[in-house]
Amino acid sequence: MYFIANWKMYGNIKSLNTLNKVIKFSKSKEIKKGRLIYCPPFTLIIPFFKKFQNCLIDIGGQNCHENDDYGPHTGFINSKMLKNSGANYVIIGHSENREKGETNKLINQKIKSAIRAKLKVILCIGETLEEKNKGKTKLILSKQIKLCLDKINKKATLFIAYEPVWSIGTGKIPKTKELENTIRFIKSKFKKKMPKILYGGSVNPKNIYNLKMIKDLDGFLIGGASQNSKNFIDIVKKTYN
Ligand code: PEP
Repeated sequence: MYFIANWKMYGNIKSLNTLNKVIKFSKSKEIKKGRLIYCPPFTLIIPFFKKFQNCLIDIGGQNCHENDDYGPHTGFINSKMLKNSGANYVIIGHSENREKGETNKLINQKIKSAIRAKLKVILCIGETLEEKNKGKTKLILSKQIKLCLDKINKKATLFIAYEPVWSIGTGKIPKTKELENTIRFIKSKFKKKMPKILYGGSVNPKNIYNLKMIKDLDGFLIGGASQNSKNFIDIVKKTYN
């Protein structure tokens, strides 16, 4: 199972000390089959990379520009720069960026660029509360999958993180049956190479007991709870116990 920590716009150089516990845990037998990936803010990618040098914890970015090459794009970094800093993964299409105008078309261009840079893509999809209440969840997810993945290299390693927007940072999670149904629906959209399927949205050490029962999940994308090493470790431990 994959446990992907999305640190969003949190963390500073002192946060490196908090990782010692996780590094120790990653080398212990307790980790079982858990694979840990940290997606810190851009400023911390290189320090995290150095910190994780002697363990198997991997690194990802939280977004990238759609252009492969260097260029006049103030405030952005591209997939090549991420790869060059030590990242092997990148989160693309997070709802916090979609809210600010990132379209499915732009996300598609970013994914293609990330694949060319040999990054593993974690594509976030999910419906808003309004869309859910109108019964449009499947319609929205279909559209996001179709447009974001239009003409992408079929051999690429892809993760789909189903993150209902109404669940992110709210403490609310979907009902078990509802979530199983949605995961099944997402999987039905892939005929050839099946991506890894993650759930994200308010995962914490308490609700992991329910979430780990969900069929066909390959892991979790964890925001708030991942910034506390004890909580992050607890989530992994409880997934296997
Ligand atoms: C996220 O933003 O990707 C996320 C899952 O956040 P949280 O766990 O805080 O809901």
